[in-house]
Amino acid sequence: MLKKLFAPSALNSPLGRSATFFFVLISLAVLATNGWTLWGSWQKTLEGTKSQSRNLSVSLARQAEDTFLQAEITLADVVRDINTRGDAILTTPIFRQQLVDRYSKLPQLRGLFVYDAKGNWMVTTSDKVPAGANNSDREYFIYHRNHTDELVHIGSVVRSRSSGDLIIPVSLRLTDANGNFNGVALATISIDYFKHFYNYYELGPHDLLGLIMTDGTLLYVRPFPDSVINKKFSSSPLFTEGLKTTDSGSAIWRSAIDGVVRIYGYSRLKRYPLVVSAGYSRNEIWQQWMADHIVDAVLNILLLLVILTMGISMLRQVKTNVKNQFELTHIRDELEMINHTLQSLALVDGLTGLANRRQFDIFLKQSLRAASTAKQSLSLLMIDIDFFKGYNDTYGHVAGDECLKRVGAAFKHLPLRNTDLVARYGGEEFAIVLPATSTAAAQQAALNALNAIRQLGIIHEATAIPDKVVTISVGVYTAFAEGISDEAERFKENADQALYDAKRNGRNRIEIKV
Ligand code: GH3
Ligand code: MG
Ligand code: MG
Repeated sequence: MLKKLFAPSALNSPLGRSATFFFVLISLAVLATNGWTLWGSWQKTLEGTKSQSRNLSVSLARQAEDTFLQAEITLADVVRDINTRGDAILTTPIFRQQLVDRYSKLPQLRGLFVYDAKGNWMVTTSDKVPAGANNSDREYFIYHRNHTDELVHIGSVVRSRSSGDLIIPVSLRLTDANGNFNGVALATISIDYFKHFYNYYELGPHDLLGLIMTDGTLLYVRPFPDSVINKKFSSSPLFTEGLKTTDSGSAIWRSAIDGVVRIYGYSRLKRYPLVVSAGYSRNEIWQQWMADHIVDAVLNILLLLVILTMGISMLRQVKTNVKNQFELTHIRDELEMINHTLQSLALVDGLTGLANRRQFDIFLKQSLRAASTAKQSLSLLMIDIDFFKGYNDTYGHVAGDECLKRVGAAFKHLPLRNTDLVARYGGEEFAIVLPATSTAAAQQAALNALNAIRQLGIIHEATAIPDKVVTISVGVYTAFAEGISDEAERFKENADQALYDAKRNGRNRIEIKV
C-alpha cells in the first residue's frame, strides 16, 4: 500500500514536475496562440464580409434608385406633355411615337402606358392592346384615383396584361385643369431587368440579392424562384431591427425565407420606399475560410503533436531515472536494515534478547578501561542456574529453553542503571557487569537477582533445593580497575571462583570473592 503510494512517477521528482509544467505550458501557449489567431482571422473574415455586403447593397441601391428615377423622369415628361398640349394629343401618332422613343432609351422599361379616368388604355408602347382592355382594377389606378398627390407611386409586382411578364408598376396621376382625376401614366419595369443585372455578380448558390419594398413585400430576390415575389416578410430582422435604426448597415441573421444564416448588408433608397439587401451565406463563407486555413490548422496540430511526443518521451526518461533512483534507495534501505540486523545479531543473544558473550566481553573491557581512568571500582556477577541438566532431562530441551527465556526476562527487569549490562554468558550461565559499584551494592544486586529467579517459581522436581523451584548461584567479585592488559580475565576468573564456591556451598546462594 505504502509502496504503491510512493511508486515511482515522473511527477515525484522536481525534474519531472518542471518538465511536465514546461510541456503543458508550451502546449497551452501553442493552443492559445493558434486558437486566438484563427478566431481573429474568422472575425476579420466576418467583418470583411459584412463590409462587402454593405457596400454591395449600397451600390445596388444606387442602381435601383437610378432605374426608378429614369422611369419617373420619363413619366413626368409624358405628364407635362399631356398637361400642356391637352388630352387630344393622346390619340395622335406623333405622341405615340414620342412615347416609343422615350421607351427605347430605357432598357429597364417593359412599357409606357396612359389610361383615362375610367382605366381605358389611351396610348401604349405595346404593339398588342388587349381588346376592351381596362386597368381600373389595378392597385396603382385605384391609388391615384383616391390620392390627389402628384408623387410617383411604386406598386407591388404584377403580371403585365400586354406582355405577360412580371413587372413593377411605376405611375403618376393625371389631373385635369380643374384638379380632377384624369387618368394614370404608367411605366412598367421588368423584373427580368433586375434578374439580368443581379446575375452579373459572381455569387455562391446560397448568396442573396433582393429588392424589397419598405413594407416587407419582396419585389425580386435572388436566388429564389418567382413564387416568393410579392410575399411579405415584414417580420424579418431587416425591418424589425436593421432599418429601424439605420438606413444602411450590416448584420447576421437567419433568413425568414429559407432559414439560411447570412451575413447581410442593406441599404434603403433615398427617394423610393425600397430597400436593397445583399446576403452572403455564412456556411459558404465558413467553408471557404476553412479551406483557406486547413493547412495552417493541420501544421499547428502537427507542431502540437511533435511537442507532446517530445514531452512524453522526455517524461518517460525522467520516469525511468526516478524509478532507478527509487529502486536504489529501496535497496540501500534494505541493506541498511540487513546490516542493522546482522549487527544486532552479532551482539544480542537470540534466545533471551540479552547481550551475548561478544558484547559482554567488549563491554567488560570498555568498562574496566573507564573504571581505571576514573579510579573506580567495578563489580562482576557470574550467575549459573542450579541443576539445569536435571531440568532439561526432566522437562525436555524445549522447556529448558523456555526456562532460560523466563530467567533472562527476569534479569532484564532487575532495578539496574543504564550503565549496567546483563549478558547471557553461555549455556545456562549469565553475567552482570556493574561499573562504579561497591561490594555492598554488588551484593545487593546479586541478592535481587537471586530473589527474582526464586520468585518466578518455575517448578523443578529434579533440583536438590527443597523448594523444588528453579534457583541460581551467584559469584560476586568487586575490585578497583588497574588498567592492566588481562584485567578482564582476572575479573572473570575471580567471579567464577566465587560462583564455584556458591555451588560447592550448596547452591541457591551468593558468594563474594574479596
Ligand atoms: P550445576 O548446578 O552444577 O550448575 O548443575 P548443572 O546441571 O546446571 O550443570 P551442568 O554443567 O552439568 O549442566 C548444564 C546443562 O545446561 C547442560 C546442558 O544440557 C544445559 N544447557 C546448556 N545450554 C543450554 C541451552 O541453550 N538450552 C537448554 N535447554 N539447555 C542448555
Ligand atoms: Mg553451568
Ligand atoms: Mg548449572
